Amino acid sequence: MTALPPGSVIGILGGGQLGRMLGSAAARLGFDIHVYAPDENPPAARIAAKHWQAAYEDKATLKAFAKACDAITYEFENIPVASVEYLIEQGAKVRPGAKSLEVSQDRLSEKRFLNSIGITTGHFEAIDSADDLAKALEALGGEGLLKTRRDGYDGKGQVRLKTGDDLAAAYAEIGHVPAILEALVPFEREISVVIARSANGKTTAFEPSMNDHAGGILRTSIAPCGLSDDVIAHARSLAETLAAETGHVGVMALELFVLEDGTLLANEVAPRVHNSGHWTPEACLTGQFEQHIRAVAGWPLGPVTRVFNAEMRNLLGKEALAPPETYSDDAVLTLYGKRDAKPGRKMGHVVWRTGKA
Ligand code: AMP
Repeated sequence: MTALPPGSVIGILGGGQLGRMLGSAAARLGFDIHVYAPDENPPAARIAAKHWQAAYEDKATLKAFAKACDAITYEFENIPVASVEYLIEQGAKVRPGAKSLEVSQDRLSEKRFLNSIGITTGHFEAIDSADDLAKALEALGGEGLLKTRRDGYDGKGQVRLKTGDDLAAAYAEIGHVPAILEALVPFEREISVVIARSANGKTTAFEPSMNDHAGGILRTSIAPCGLSDDVIAHARSLAETLAAETGHVGVMALELFVLEDGTLLANEVAPRVHNSGHWTPEACLTGQFEQHIRAVAGWPLGPVTRVFNAEMRNLLGKEALAPPETYSDDAVLTLYGKRDAKPGRKMGHVVWRTGKA
């Protein structure tokens, strides 16, 4: 594709903090952004040239949005695939396309797809009833994690189960929706690889970060991740396979469990910039947001060499209300401009540069 010239309009489906940070990166490269999101006044819309406030299924607005934007991307994975397909039918360049979105919207098809391209996951069973759950729990050795197939994030829609628990109640708790039961993976640590693929198929993978979660929510990401060069190279190669097999254009993330012996098991795919990559703008020659915008605009990708060690910590709920003088001089603060500091809500993050790489 020909590279979009500065002054072009990049449309973003979704109005959250990822869209806001993508928008800032786009602005630095001379682009205007238009944000399409149903919410009133979301974080990304407040830095956008235009906010298209409409439902994701609203065809008339989608059609006008397609016409107004020179390229379109998305910042969260629950955008209806049909809406992306409709934008493409209207002649829009949507990057990434529908395939990566489709793969990552449903935990069961995601895991089956990963296995089909040679990326190993933990054991899992499909669940469509409380009866399925009893059989699956037995098959997985009497313990597992029940997750909704769709729409779960930050630990929502997940219940930990063991033999003897009230399975009907557990299935009711997640709303009787299609689900999967995953074996509990005895991981030594969690890492993720954030990778970018350009329109002409070139990839650059950031070094993996080590990620720490609490209650299903990411708390910290640390780079370097402390693993051997072999394991790091393996992790990067898995992300490269994933990016190539989905024909992805833009940034995507592959979350991995690392076992004691260095075995890597995939947990989740995000077809977008990712929370565990928030340290990259402060620590690498090119950060994940700029990299994504470069790919979407058909520009060459930037170098992802890491020049600092870094630690990123999410600010959840009221943690983000601490006064700026709370932070040390080496802390880089990013706040998302969300008005309501609800418990557990991602409100901002801090990156500390903890030394030269
Ligand atoms: P998820 O939303 O599926 O990425 O889950 C959020 C976090 O819960 C993961 O990053 C892990 O820390 C933990 N977790 C999820 N699935 C499993 C599993 N099958 N085994 C062990 N821990 C898990």
